[in-house]
Amino acid sequence: MAWRFALMIDPAAAGDDRADYADTFTEVDPAAPALTVGELSTQRGDGIFESIGVVDGHPQEVTAHLERLAHSAQLCELPLPNLAQWRAAVDRAAAHCGPGESVVKLILSRGVEHGPAPTAWVTAAAASDFTRARTEGIRVVTLDRGYSLATPARAPWLLLGAKTLSYAVNMAALREAKRRGADDAIFTTSDGYVLEAPTASLIVRRGDTFVTPAPNAGILHGTTQLSLFEHLALRGFAVGYETIPVATLAEADAAWLVSSVRLAAPITAIDDAPLAVDAEFTASLNTYLLSPRD
Ligand code: PLP
Repeated sequence: MAWRFALMIDPAAAGDDRADYADTFTEVDPAAPALTVGELSTQRGDGIFESIGVVDGHPQEVTAHLERLAHSAQLCELPLPNLAQWRAAVDRAAAHCGPGESVVKLILSRGVEHGPAPTAWVTAAAASDFTRARTEGIRVVTLDRGYSLATPARAPWLLLGAKTLSYAVNMAALREAKRRGADDAIFTTSDGYVLEAPTASLIVRRGDTFVTPAPNAGILHGTTQLSLFEHLALRGFAVGYETIPVATLAEADAAWLVSSVRLAAPITAIDDAPLAVDAEFTASLNTYLLSPRD
């Protein structure tokens, strides 16, 4: 990871609105140790995060990311983040990104065991080059996530709609996908419905209609999917949320995994069944996603 910047944040309470949050920020060397051994983010993955794409110094869709951070905090019973403070931290990190594509990461941890406050920080790093995934596409396999469509409502302590730091399962799914000769995965429920990818949302095209699984408590509501739906609606396409049976994926005319940093990656095959890729149309989506978006 080519780190560019790291900033520790002394979290202000939500509603503690100030003209300037500079005295709550401490710039640290991203290559040097910064957390204590009692950190619950590292001991238990007990915290939440956001990854924001930055293009030529412009952080994309900051409001949507901050709203999701607040939603995750609420689900995890963490103190509600002061969004003006986080926005100021994002701006400060983005100012260190320079030209090209970068990623700014926001992390809010429950803090140090028995400590007084959450730990919070942002980092900025150069993004990987995703040209190949965006242009040549990705092969995906479906993987059982191990719970039914009804589980999230029945067991909210699973935190299934929160973007928590506990991504070991998501990373294991990516390794399993690679073992099966694919690039990525689509999680499915145990009762046969489509959810999301380990680090992306799924968008399916049928004719001139674009659908994505309903963002109920079982999946994250993707900021990239939201932004693309707005864009597609302006272009005259129909967009919508659906409960999508896995069996109907075979009827798709096209499909993409979309996320803040890799952007729109067209799917070339699902479980070895080939899917057509419209290279020109996909390029138009990525051109939009690379344009400055607020
Ligand atoms: N779903 C999961 C599980 C994710 O981790 C992500 C992003 O990392 C997404 C969906 C896509 O969200 P976004 O478009 O906001 O990056």
